[in-house]
Amino acid sequence: MSTIRENIEKIRENIAEAAVRAGRNVSDIRLMGVTKTVDDARIMEAIEAGIDIIGENYVQEGKRKIEKMGKTLEWHMIGHLQSNKSKYAIKLFDLIHSVDRMSLARELDKRSGNAGLKTKILVEVNVSGEETKSGVRKENALSLIKEIAGLRNLAVQGLMTMPPWFDNQEDARPFFVALRELRDRIIEEDLPDVVMKELSMGMSGDYRVAVEEGATIVRIGTAIFGERVY
Ligand SMILES: *Cc1c(COP(=O)(O)O)cnc(C)c1O
Repeated sequence: MSTIRENIEKIRENIAEAAVRAGRNVSDIRLMGVTKTVDDARIMEAIEAGIDIIGENYVQEGKRKIEKMGKTLEWHMIGHLQSNKSKYAIKLFDLIHSVDRMSLARELDKRSGNAGLKTKILVEVNVSGEETKSGVRKENALSLIKEIAGLRNLAVQGLMTMPPWFDNQEDARPFFVALRELRDRIIEEDLPDVVMKELSMGMSGDYRVAVEEGATIVRIGTAIFGERVY
């Protein structure tokens, strides 16, 4: 058995155990393979081992891989998105996790309208407030989402976050809790075209805790593919 397949099976077990601990249904949690810098042969191995969502950080790199590997699985955009790449992003990706400002949302909406598409997005929230992080600040998230709700060609599906990196994954828990509580707060608003079904949170170092706190998509790179070589 390949290492990639073994890694994926181990992660699936860990997700299942975390789901049980939290009294959640394991089928409510999807495992994304994050493939920035990963070569095509290894991505194919992951797909053969059952990975059916691939997350890409860059539009160009994603475009090349999608053209090669096809649309038989879901491709998600998880990296910082420049507005001028919007017209490509809406056609390539099934879900864009990284919408964090109104200027980007407007551009995605306009391009989606031109293409006759309704684009599914998540709003990326910077729950830690670190200056270097992308994502809308937690305190500004609700007003951003209210504004996005007025755009007819976008459909908000939930929230995404990336907590600070910690040695001990327990330290990430408050940030996951904060995202879940924010989701619950937004659900109360009952906004048009806003459903809060996805919580995209948890990476290689902290996905177990993220699952315990309600993640519906965990985004895993190194724990599947090994350390990235840039
Ligand atoms: C790279 C990346 C990941 C995966 O990180 P790992 O620690 O390698 O699992 C997840 N989410 C985003 C947004 C990323 O850029």
